[in-house]
Parts: sequence; C-alpha cells; structure tokens
Amino acid sequence: ETPVPSDIAVSRAQTPKHISQVASEIGILPHELEPYGASKAKVTLDVLKRLESRKDGKYVIVAGITPTPLGEGKSTTTIGLVQALAAHLQRIAFANVRQPSQGPTFGIKGGAAGGGYSQVIPMEEFNLHLTGDIHAITAANNLLAAAIETRMFHEDSQKDGPLYRRLIPPPPKSKPDVKRTFPPWALRRLKRVGIDKTNPDELDEAEIRKFARLDIDPDTITWRRVLDVNDRHLRGITVGQAPTEKGHTRETAFDISVASECMAVLALSNSLQDMRERLERIVIGTSRGGDPVTAGDIGAAGAMAALMRDAVKPNLMQTLEGTPVFVHAGPFANISIGASSVLADKLALKLAGTEEDDEEAQPGYVVTEAGFDFTMGGERSLNIKCRSSGLIPDCIVIVATVRALKSHSPDAPSITPGTPLPAYYTDENVEALKKGCVNLKKHIENARAFGVKVVVAINKFTTDTQSEVEIVRSEAITAGAEDAIPANHWAEGGKGAVDLANGVIAACDKANKDDFKLLYDLETSVQERIDKIAKEMYGAEKVEFSELAQKKVDTYVKQGFGNLPICIAKTQYSLSADPNLKGAPTGFTIPIRDVRLAVGAGYLYALAADIQTIPGLPTAPGYLSVDIDANGEIEGLF
Ligand code: ADP
Repeated sequence: ETPVPSDIAVSRAQTPKHISQVASEIGILPHELEPYGASKAKVTLDVLKRLESRKDGKYVIVAGITPTPLGEGKSTTTIGLVQALAAHLQRIAFANVRQPSQGPTFGIKGGAAGGGYSQVIPMEEFNLHLTGDIHAITAANNLLAAAIETRMFHEDSQKDGPLYRRLIPPPPKSKPDVKRTFPPWALRRLKRVGIDKTNPDELDEAEIRKFARLDIDPDTITWRRVLDVNDRHLRGITVGQAPTEKGHTRETAFDISVASECMAVLALSNSLQDMRERLERIVIGTSRGGDPVTAGDIGAAGAMAALMRDAVKPNLMQTLEGTPVFVHAGPFANISIGASSVLADKLALKLAGTEEDDEEAQPGYVVTEAGFDFTMGGERSLNIKCRSSGLIPDCIVIVATVRALKSHSPDAPSITPGTPLPAYYTDENVEALKKGCVNLKKHIENARAFGVKVVVAINKFTTDTQSEVEIVRSEAITAGAEDAIPANHWAEGGKGAVDLANGVIAACDKANKDDFKLLYDLETSVQERIDKIAKEMYGAEKVEFSELAQKKVDTYVKQGFGNLPICIAKTQYSLSADPNLKGAPTGFTIPIRDVRLAVGAGYLYALAADIQTIPGLPTAPGYLSVDIDANGEIEGLF
C-alpha cells in the first residue's frame, strides 16, 4: 500500500551522474580523483594541503534515540538532510557515512545505504566491495596474524645468534664492500628496547637477545584473524594442526573484518603517516617478561601500511539527488566507535569550507553519522573521535520516530518480526508516546552536556498523527533541544527534509565552539572515566569491575596505557547494560567484565556485555534473496 517502492528499486530507477561530475561540482580537481568505474572514486589527501587555508564548513553529527526493533532511520535521515541542504537549499553539503560490512548485508540487517528516496547510489556497489577497503584491512590484519605465528615458530626453533643473523643478514660474501645495516623496522625496534647502536656487528649477546627475541607469551595474544563473513563457526579455532608446524598448535578465533583494530585505525587516522604510526603501536600480546609486544616489534607495521595505503583515501559516491557522499571506514559499533573516518570528515569540511578573507561566502555542511544512539555512538564520537581529530561539532541531530518512542514506554507490547505491528504503535497513542519520550529527553540532555546545540529530527511514518508529532516536539524542546522538526525525506527525498535542514542551519548559526567540553580528561584514572560515562551518560548508580577487569586495568596502567579514552561496549538496546530496560532507567549497575587495549586505535575498551565479534546467520539469511539477472544486475539486496 505504500507508494514508495523497495530500496533497491528506487536506487536502480535513478541513473547516477558520472562520479567525475560529482567531484568537479564540489571543487575536487581531476588529479585529486581516482575513479573506480563510473560511480565511485577515491579522493586523494592532497585536497587537505591545497585547501589548508580554508575555514572549515559546519560539522553536524547525527545519532539516534536508543535503538528499537522498529528502527529510527539514522542513515536515511543523514542522506535526506544533505539532499535537502544541497539539492533544495543550494548549499554545499556532504553526507559522511560508514562502509557497511558484508556480514550484516547478507545476514539479518540488510544494507545500510539509507532508504526510500534518501539513499546512497548505486546501492549494490555501496553494499558490496566498494573500492576494496575492507579487503585491504582483512589483508593487513591477517598478515600480522601470520607474522605473530611465524615469529613464535622461528624463535622456538632457533637460538639467539642464528635468529639474529636471519633477521639482520650479513651481506653476501661476494660483496665484501657492502656493510651490514639495520633496516628501518629494526631501528624502530632498537629504539623501543633502548639500544643505542647503529652497527649490527656491535651488539653484545645480551643486546642481541633483547632485540631479536620477542618471547611472546602465547596465552596473552589478543590479535585474531578476520574475514568479512558472518561465519559463526570460526568463533573458536585451533591453528597449526598440520605436521609441518611441529606441534605449535594454538587456540584462537576469527572476528568480522570490521571489528579489526586496523579498521578503527583507519577511522581515526589524521594522515597517512599517522596511520603508519598507529599500526606500529598496535599491541598484540605480552612477552613472558610482561612487556607489551607491538606490530612494530614484529616488523609487520610497514607492510600493513602498504596494504592500507589506498584504503586511507576516502571514497566519493552520491545520493539519489546527485549530491556528494563520502563512504569511508566502518568500525564495528559494538566494540569500537561506529563512526566513519576522521579523514573523510576533514576532507569534506575543507571542501565545504570558505576562504578566510571571504566574508560573504556561505559555509557548507558536513553531516556525519555516529552509530547507534547518542549515548553510545555520539559519546564515543565526541570523547574518542573528536578528541583525536580536534574537530568540534556545530550541531547534533538526534533522530527519533513516534513508533520507536512508543516502544520506550514501560507498557509497550513486544514486536514479533514478520507479523503486523500491534495497533499500539500504529494508532494514535498519546499517553504511551509521552512516557517513551523520557528516552529522547535523556539523549538530548546528554548531548547538551557537551555544550553542543541539538536538533531533533522526527522521521515521519505514515501512521504518525499531528498531535503525536506535537508531543515529541514539545518534549524535545523542554529537554533543551533548539528545535524538533518532522521530516518526510523517506517518502519525498530532500524536499521532505527542507524544514529540518533550515533548523540545522539555524542551530549551526547559533553554535559557539567555545562552549564545547569533553566529558572527561585523560589525567583521571581509568575507573573514574568509566564511572563518569556510566553515571552521567547512562544514568547508572554504580559500576562494578570484575576481578579480571581490575587486573587488566592494573596491567595496562603499569605498561603506560592508563591515559587512553574509553570505549564502553554494551548492549545498544538500552541506556543500561540490560537490553530489556527501556526508556531512561535509573538505579542500575554497569558490570565491567573485561577491559581490552587498542593502542593503535588509541582507546581502551571496557566490556559491559558478552559481545559477539563475529555475528551468526539466521535460518533465512539475506543472501537467500540475492541473485543476478541475465544482464548482471543484482537482485534482492535490501
Ligand atoms: P538506522 O540507520 O537507524 O539503522 P536506516 O536509516 O538504515 O536506520 O533505516 C532502516 C530501514 O527503515 C530502511 O530500510 C529504511 O528504508 C526504513 N525507513 C527509514 N525511515 C523510514 C520512514 N520514515 N518510513 C518508512 N521506512 C523507513
């Protein structure tokens, strides 16, 4: 009965502009563009240098209320908003979104290109492969995994002298004039272990041992293999079972590629060189002596950076209305920041920026998504991503729907997928809606605590009534939002989000970046930082550390990693750690089961849930519907 066709039908009905045209319309020069076919291209980081003197455009972060099975439409709203800004209000406007993982695309969730008349196109290219960045991450991650295993194998079978001679080989006898030298990876390693010598022949036995023998404790290895498939049978594996490995078996596991620390590194890097340094710092485990062992110690970081050299360049695509989109990086929102890359944001902010001396010029807008609700995605985007990039948002958009807010009321009936929605959700129900608005209010207050202006986007469904929309509006404004604006971009495209876009422009005009404050500073203790997030953002009464978590924190502090920002991994379905607690619960405890280290990405992550880092597939997964027709067109993505 809906007049809006399926997402893939809408996507296919629109012929995209050639990507070089999209690029030239926003001032990207031909030599800064690396097209991958006709509808996607990489943009080189040279743009940053060329436009260095520009004042950045306006920076808008989109997050949601606490997710419900009904969906809030964050991606759809991100795209609808930029279509309104760019195609209807003639501003330069970018949507910056994550690259979806193939896991969910073929699993339960489907693609992530937005929906209805607010989408990134072509959606099949967006959802599958794109320009290969996830493949590059998989390659880099697994190269390091192989390097760890191999290094342990060779260290086990060789004494110090031969190990050193193989790592730093003497020149061939046929070339007596050539001197034995340390390659760059070895110079970095020497520096780390405090050996101040540059001539490989001058190391004494103790120094050779210190340099060459990593002595990794296999029980401490946290680095796993990855692939971009929801293959749950790889959640626990044993490697090294062939006789050639001489009994070097080890229990380990696979994660989904987007959960790799390499993906978080890509998302948070500020430059190619910064990415190289972050890869160097990745900690893969601990030596038997208790020292952290890094990708740099193993000598793999340079090759990993080589594999990810092109991945660091943001990918340009377009919306249904021909406006620019950067699709870049997609860290797993459950254990990482769930936001697209810093570099895509920086590039877009310069392209949307204005010359310092041009008073007349209108700024452009960069609308970037922060996965899940404000209190998980938004909080991490600010405390981790913005802390690292130095960028400050002008406005935060919180997406809510009437239906999803009703499901945050304590009396909400449960929803069974595949069956019609109870009338509770589809008929006017002012009382339920009012109760559910506590969830929206908490997210608004949390966002306001950072000193940033908030606009609520009410993503309209056909069943919403006028009085329901009015309630959301008044509750949002009471909670401190600048405005709360209904938007109909799913059904109408950018035209349906013009009011929302005008509200965002008005909020950005009023923004004062001096008001911005992060939630915590890094001089506090790890426990204090976790406490602050749990109590002030989630509404918890207390935080409980398991013995394991406490022990890990002590180790990391001792190793010098005690001052990193915190990413709390917990259920996205509640502000609390219990997915069944809807609304804005209070009086609960956040249990911290484990704390893990992501030094390359630059944060500690605290697990307040049993998080699966490789999802499974249901009985009827998305891939059952996917096929190609006689012309090679892909069917069945959703
Ligand atoms: P999120 O980013 O919050 O996960 P998406 O934007 O991906 O949500 O939207 C999820 C699904 O809901 C998409 O298939 C989209 O087409 C659909 N959707 C979003 N907004 C609306 C709306 N206003 N009316 C109907 N369907 C919608």
